[in-house]
Amino acid sequence: MKSVERTSDGTGDRAPNRECYRCDRDVAPARLFRLVSEPPAALSNEYQIAERFCCPDCAAAINLSEFAERVKARARRSDPQ
Ligand SMILES: [Zn+2]
Repeated sequence: MKSVERTSDGTGDRAPNRECYRCDRDVAPARLFRLVSEPPAALSNEYQIAERFCCPDCAAAINLSEFAERVKARARRSDPQ
């Protein structure tokens, strides 16, 4: 049986949380947006696919979050109009 206790030398994957690439906030991985930037074929020699993780607030700030239809329907229902 192996011990899963971490050593204190700081090597390896010590942080359970990931940082948002924009605001540097620590966010649980389950709540991070994954942003993938895939260059078009014509530019694939100059650019490679980039991957970033950001928090929901930052995803909203750069207009990259979209609420699920379920959430939108709920918002409509509570709308007085
Ligand atoms: Zn953020």
